[in-house]
Amino acid sequence: MKFNTKTIHGNQQHDPSTGAVMPPIYQTSTYAQTSPGNHKGYEYSRTGNPTRTALENAFASIENGKFGLAFGSGLAAIDCVLKLLNPGDEVISTNDLYGGSYRIFTKIFENFGVKFKFIGMENAGNIENYISKKTKLIWVETPTNPMMNIIDIEAVSKVAKKHQVLLAVDNTFATPYLQTPLDLGADIVMHSATKYLGGHSDVVMGALIVDNKELADKLYFIQNSCGAVCGPMDSFLVLRGIKTLHVRMQRHCENGKAVAMFLVNHPKIEKVYWPGFENHPNYEIAKKQMRDFGGMVSFVTKGNNIKDAFKIVENLKIFTLAESLGGVESLSGHPASMTHASIPKEEREKTGVVDSLIRLSVGIEDIDDLIADLNQALNLI
Ligand SMILES: *Cc1c(COP(=O)(O)O)cnc(C)c1O
Repeated sequence: MKFNTKTIHGNQQHDPSTGAVMPPIYQTSTYAQTSPGNHKGYEYSRTGNPTRTALENAFASIENGKFGLAFGSGLAAIDCVLKLLNPGDEVISTNDLYGGSYRIFTKIFENFGVKFKFIGMENAGNIENYISKKTKLIWVETPTNPMMNIIDIEAVSKVAKKHQVLLAVDNTFATPYLQTPLDLGADIVMHSATKYLGGHSDVVMGALIVDNKELADKLYFIQNSCGAVCGPMDSFLVLRGIKTLHVRMQRHCENGKAVAMFLVNHPKIEKVYWPGFENHPNYEIAKKQMRDFGGMVSFVTKGNNIKDAFKIVENLKIFTLAESLGGVESLSGHPASMTHASIPKEEREKTGVVDSLIRLSVGIEDIDDLIADLNQALNLI
């Protein structure tokens, strides 16, 4: 089955009791048993719920994995992965990453004795310098947030396999429309389904997808033991979102490209970060590993002035200034004071997240309106 069919039909079946084409929202916490332990596969909705099962099956299908798990948020999914570890274990992570991931790593799991090393992974060979006997997990985000660096997943997976370290990829930005990390050798794919998978800015949710049964069982055990699951209504919404993922992503990519091209030619712009530019330092990897370049674009204005950045985001009319990304509507963000405020200024600036950086999540509105909006805001500085 091809991707555009999987988003709609992958691992799905009509409701066995009524033939309902969409799975009902099974708004129930528990399930009747005919005698103790004798039930129809569901006992309690933390452990499993049919609407969530339908969604978890869809997650697995679109990421080319065998097992999917749904959580109450992307961070709950990350939390589940980190609970595979023990005190003393080490994690190597990309240094340019989602602020909340950095926060859970350093402010929560370091307290439990897990150590984190944040490094550039554009050159996968560099990772070996940081691997020790205690290294248990490599954490990769690509494209990175918000600098749009591209990490070669296949090259990193070779290093991970050589040292028998798990490789997890946060695929939130790319989505399986653009890249399927399990096919490139990753062990775990993670999503903030809040973003493109849900796609309509109406739900917070996380996902994990794996191919290995033993690993899946460990993760299911943690999911059930720690309980950060999502409810049936949210499962239904994300399942509905996934059905249009491919058409939305196609438009996100088209509009993202047009916005990147407009900005790069604009006299007030210093630099645009978008992996589809031929002079992007990781362009060749992006072209090899991704089917298109996505709808996320970051830029810095000339003069690197925070006042200009604020003026732009405050005056955009169609782009809403808001946290998050990946919805049908265009959003703007100021990483230094919003998504990345939890990362210390020196750390942040080392990776390029300067005070004047603006990040756009380009939506699927008419491109002429989006460009006119950017143009009027840029003319104010
Ligand atoms: C939003 C986001 C997360 C966290 O997900 P939540 O659903 O907000 O908990 C993790 N990684 C990336 C890349 C994100 O954009």
